[in-house]
Amino acid sequence: MKGVNFLRTAVIILSIVSGALLIALGVAVLVIHALRRNAKRNTQIDKMTGLLNRDGFMRAGNEILRHNKVLAGDYALFVFDVDHLGMVNTLFGVERGDSVVRAFAGAVKSLAGKTGLCGRVNTDDFALLVKLQGEEISEVIERFSGYLYSVIPENRLRDKVNFFAGVCIYDGADDIYTLYNKANLCLMTKRGGLRVTEFTSDMENRMVENELLRSEMSEALEKGQFELYYQPKVSFKTGKILGVEALIRWHHPTKGFVPPTDFIPIAEEFGIITRIDEWGLITACRQGKKWMDKGLPPVKISVNMSQAQFQRTDVYASVVKALEETGFDPHYLEIEVTETMAMLDAEHMAEILSKIHSLGVSISIDDFGTGYSSLSSLKTIPFDVLKIDRSLVCDVSENDTSRRITGAIVAMGKALRMVVLAEGVETDEQNRLLSEIGCDLAQGYYYSKPCPASEIETMLILPVGENTAG
Ligand code: C2E
Ligand code: CA
Ligand code: CA
Repeated sequence: MKGVNFLRTAVIILSIVSGALLIALGVAVLVIHALRRNAKRNTQIDKMTGLLNRDGFMRAGNEILRHNKVLAGDYALFVFDVDHLGMVNTLFGVERGDSVVRAFAGAVKSLAGKTGLCGRVNTDDFALLVKLQGEEISEVIERFSGYLYSVIPENRLRDKVNFFAGVCIYDGADDIYTLYNKANLCLMTKRGGLRVTEFTSDMENRMVENELLRSEMSEALEKGQFELYYQPKVSFKTGKILGVEALIRWHHPTKGFVPPTDFIPIAEEFGIITRIDEWGLITACRQGKKWMDKGLPPVKISVNMSQAQFQRTDVYASVVKALEETGFDPHYLEIEVTETMAMLDAEHMAEILSKIHSLGVSISIDDFGTGYSSLSSLKTIPFDVLKIDRSLVCDVSENDTSRRITGAIVAMGKALRMVVLAEGVETDEQNRLLSEIGCDLAQGYYYSKPCPASEIETMLILPVGENTAG
């Protein structure tokens, strides 16, 4: 009997213990689940603003759109791009840049309200999925625009920061990624001020084409499909070729020749431009060294640099590397930056370009006359050459105002001890007038179109006057 009682007690104790163990295990599993869920949620939150990050926004957005009661026209997705944030950071400090981001995040959150969804999908991009609730999209855009502009903390920041927005209305079929891509695509047509561009179907074809070009461009460098052409810069006085500008050409395997104006903006948008420009820089230096070694008359080679290159890479280090690797004399290298680039980020540009200049490399201001022509940047950036934009040059023979403006630009360039070059000279008349106005150099079809290195070699060997059309 005693034995039976003992056994019964043992069984009871054992079942209590195993029950407790099971409960403890269950609790542990629940805790682990909760912790995991929390950790996952944390990885979907942007720490600085507390908004969902890209991953979080996409997941939550997908949930909303997959809901079977969501119909075409119910929602619109906005992508906001806070432009020039890098510049605010540089000019006013990172804290100010962060305050703009936070202010904007708060505004987007309040626009989302209870029924919408918002997130910080990139450093300076926000996404907002809003329920339209019968309101016309144009009304929503107008309401949002006024409000968002007012949230920027200080007037001086408000002047520097630009907002762009793209919007696409849900068509009843797209997933969140496609909807986001469509809205994002509208940002490519950036316009000044706070403007919202609405998605249209022809943008879609462009989106597909751009996406294709983007992936092809990544391969084009490895496959050697890019080539540098060179366009002579000729002295008005002597007719001698004193320099050449390197201009990229893409020999596409099926499309044939793709002009840089078609692919450079896409390369900039997707960040591939930095690799392309680095390739261009080193290729131009290698070519220059080759010409020097062949004993050809020395010419300066100028290379175009995009804004992205200055924002995302250490251009000074790239220039040093290209010069060291190729052994090209820095005094024959020239870097071209556009007037707009110099204006947008004057302090940063002044710092980098001064360092590059101290290597012996020349700096030229490109497309002059198309931007704001701020004199202050001409003072702080060590420009050696001023390139008058083609839009002014092509007018000099017909338009008196253009002629006077060009004359004033030449006088200013000379006063600042710059070499003045006229871009896009096409006719005899333009050539004569520009020479009279006092330009030093001419570049344009009148003398030669951009051509392969081998043709430049021939031009450099021929006597002056016979080597170009002029
Ligand atoms: P850009 O720097 O202003 O280059 C001058 C453009 O004007 C070139 O166009 C040139 O072919 C064209 N041009 C020269 N003379 C004449 C003329 O008499 N009449 C006319 N109608 N056009 C003339 P291209 O080669 O198509 O290049 C276009 C733009 O693409 C360049 O403008 C530059 O901004 C950009 N680009 C070209 N190569 C590169 C590169 O390697 N890197 C970067 N970042 N941008 C580049
Ligand atoms: Ca140029
Ligand atoms: Ca130009």
